[in-house]
Amino acid sequence: MAKVFNFSAGPAMLPSAVLAQAQTELLNWQEQQTSVMEVSHRGKLFMELAAQSVDDLRQLYNIPENYQILFLQGGARGQFAAIPMNLLSENGKALYLTSGYWSATAAKEARLFGEIDEINILEQGHELKVNNLDFSDIAAQYDYVHYCPNETISGVEIFDIPKVGNAILVADMSSNILSREIDISQFGLIYAGAQKNLGPAGITIVIVRDDLIGRARNTTPTIWNYEVQKNADSMINTPPTFAWYLCALVFKHLLSQGGMKAMEKHNQDKAKLLYDYLDQSDFYHNTVAKQNRSLMNVTFTTGHDELNAKFVAEATAAGLHALKGHKVLGGMRASIYNAMPIEGIEALIAFMQRFSSENS
Ligand SMILES: *Cc1c(COP(=O)(O)O)cnc(C)c1O
Repeated sequence: MAKVFNFSAGPAMLPSAVLAQAQTELLNWQEQQTSVMEVSHRGKLFMELAAQSVDDLRQLYNIPENYQILFLQGGARGQFAAIPMNLLSENGKALYLTSGYWSATAAKEARLFGEIDEINILEQGHELKVNNLDFSDIAAQYDYVHYCPNETISGVEIFDIPKVGNAILVADMSSNILSREIDISQFGLIYAGAQKNLGPAGITIVIVRDDLIGRARNTTPTIWNYEVQKNADSMINTPPTFAWYLCALVFKHLLSQGGMKAMEKHNQDKAKLLYDYLDQSDFYHNTVAKQNRSLMNVTFTTGHDELNAKFVAEATAAGLHALKGHKVLGGMRASIYNAMPIEGIEALIAFMQRFSSENS
């Protein structure tokens, strides 16, 4: 069978070393003669796995001691609601900076809980661009400021951190968590659904500063209350143990690969290769300004719907899977998260060259 590269935006590919380890351990985890799925989350072995995963993520991402790491359910969309429930006071306001589909969807959900101001920070000229990120003069009036540093659908990434003075900055990092080094101390809260860059679907990571825990409205359901979850080590109800286990393996894998510094270099090298190819091509176009080109989701189009469809079909047949762009945008999208090897980018470019010469 020819080698397949999976460019899915999410759920996305996992490191093959992690899958192989999970396979090896599947029927006999920790000498228990059962799988990790079949043991109590409150048993000693799983509790050790959970604690180790927190330590590993803290080390990997350089997370300061005054931040808690929660492993929750409900995906990123669950957090779209949990954040206002926990951080928006009854008479308060929050500011949502919108730059595409996900940040706008988060703002819409937050409106269910109170007053939300929204500022569209995406400039839509002949290219997509985010320029002004200084909100320090207005941020103090808000309970928090929310943004999405990587818009997964359009492939717009915001590399500079918005300036919000002493206000609380909240970031949806679902599609760029652990992709490059960041300064966690700039954020009040970071969250991410696992299924893009951390592990399988079904688990959500929340990294939250201590002083933001304990502010939830008293109507907040127990499972969404950060304080309750912190005090229960994220186990107020049964956590998705297998998903958690896989995340734990991914963290160990990333540490063994050299951590965030190595991962950032790997991701920059991959993205550069693909964008450099797109830039010299007259056949394919990417419409994101250079300063905001995502390292994780690379969007491109031929400019013609029929040709795009032909591209996707032929790429799939050639073992390059899931390149169809999101339905709200069309075109193509190559999602090249941590687990995508450079060989995947090289194979994609070789196919793109062939396709363009056959069809121009
Ligand atoms: C995929 C994605 C979401 C939605 O995640 P779910 O876990 O399916 O709720 C939200 N935000 C961003 C940036 C995403 O990429």
